[in-house]
Amino acid sequence: MSIATDPDCIFCRIVAGDLPADRLYEDDDIVAFRDISPQAPFHGLIIPKAHIATLNDVSDEQTGVMGRLFAVARQLASEHALPGYRVVVNTNREGGQVVFHVHMHVLGGRQMKAGMG
Ligand code: AMP
Repeated sequence: MSIATDPDCIFCRIVAGDLPADRLYEDDDIVAFRDISPQAPFHGLIIPKAHIATLNDVSDEQTGVMGRLFAVARQLASEHALPGYRVVVNTNREGGQVVFHVHMHVLGGRQMKAGMG
């Protein structure tokens, strides 16, 4: 089955291999790579390969792959020996989203402050 892509989307270009990224994980549906501007000693981004702009655009058929992003987060945390970590999905500009290809941030490697600020 073909995967929907947007040629103007930087994360689609990473999926396609047209933009370099420090890849951490890949399977048929998901890619993870290091954030280019890390906010913690470990800062990974996990994305579905399909171009989905925001969490609000996830269809019922896509909830399975979105759920698997959590399993990849857990795997990355284990592989990178993170005793604790934070996952964040910024949604829409008001939610701090800058790249409109849905992604999960995984932050760890330092003490995260309690609460969300
Ligand atoms: P958000 O604000 O949730 O949309 O986060 C987008 C994230 O993508 C930011 O943390 C950026 O540092 C990161 N980012 C942007 N371009 C790239 C890139 N080419 N490779 C890796 N991370 C990127």
